[in-house]
Amino acid sequence: MTGIAQPVRTKPQWAEFPIRIRELQVLRRALVTDSMVRITLGGPGIVGFESHLPDEHVKLVFPDPDGTTRAPVPDGDRLDWPNPFPPTREYTVRRYDADAGEVDFDFVVHRGGLASTWAQGAPIGSSIWVAGPRPPRTVPEECRHLVLLGDETALPAIGRWLEEMPAGLSGVAAVEIAGASEEQNLRVPEGFTLHWLHRDGAPAGHSPLLGEFARTLTLPTNVRSYVWAAGEASTIKPVRRWARAQGVTAAEYDIGGYWKVESTRAEPTSVGAKVVNGVRHGWAHLLRREH
Ligand SMILES: Cc1cc2nc3c(=O)[nH]c(=O)nc-3n(C[C@H](O)[C@H](O)[C@H](O)COP(=O)(O)OP(=O)(O)OC[C@H]3O[C@@H](n4cnc5c(N)ncnc54)[C@H](O)[C@@H]3O)c2cc1C
Repeated sequence: MTGIAQPVRTKPQWAEFPIRIRELQVLRRALVTDSMVRITLGGPGIVGFESHLPDEHVKLVFPDPDGTTRAPVPDGDRLDWPNPFPPTREYTVRRYDADAGEVDFDFVVHRGGLASTWAQGAPIGSSIWVAGPRPPRTVPEECRHLVLLGDETALPAIGRWLEEMPAGLSGVAAVEIAGASEEQNLRVPEGFTLHWLHRDGAPAGHSPLLGEFARTLTLPTNVRSYVWAAGEASTIKPVRRWARAQGVTAAEYDIGGYWKVESTRAEPTSVGAKVVNGVRHGWAHLLRREH
């Protein structure tokens, strides 16, 4: 065969760095759009924070109903989580400024929800425990074309992917959002296109737009492609099916559910959780990762 790039690695590769736990303070809150709240955290606990790759995420540890916070404790480069597992939610590091000692997280505003409610009302100066970031998967070097798809929960990661993209790659990004007012002014690197997919009245988590968009794509044949996709679990499944049908190998995609419509949100116990790099990840990771 000539002209068709062949996969080199078959196993997913993971970045490696220690997982830490720290208490941070709410420095600022800003509205990115009507449905996206940006919380800037900092304070003395930020010392030593690391952020390396666009889809890095942390676990925010919330108090139990009685107000007690049961944060994990460091165990070398890992964390030892209490049993039963405390209430946590996962959020992407949108921006980390080491000089200013600040880290931003963008929260989708939705009805109900521990994290969404917290982001809208947390007093400036109040504290939250932050576990992570957790090392994400890395893009194999031979993948020179990127496909980035997701709903608004993936927008922080896709924004970072586009902003931090090294030169010389090509690709396409598409973000499913409620409508034009939720579009963000993202940097689009040379060689990339960015598409906004408007739900136009359909509720989040109930739209076929991501799968439909994926099926319009033709992957290049002269380089390997990497597909990253995240969003509501059922809307992401067609993207995974499409990627596999294109011959994208397991090392060349990271596609998973970031949330689930009408999750009952029972907090996982340590028995039901999965240990990855020393962190027991709850249902969200079991949902998201296939590996
Ligand atoms: C690795 C990873 C990174 C993530 N990064 C981000 C991020 O940077 N920003 C972000 O906003 N989200 C992100 N998410 C998704 C976020 O963790 C979930 O949306 C989470 O469920 C929100 O928690 P909550 O406490 O607000 O709502 P929950 O208590 O989990 O859910 C309450 C109700 O709200 C519904 N719900 C949950 N999320 C949404 C939503 N987005 N839209 C509409 N309804 C919803 C649920 O179906 C449920 O009925 C990420 C998820 C993962 C796994």
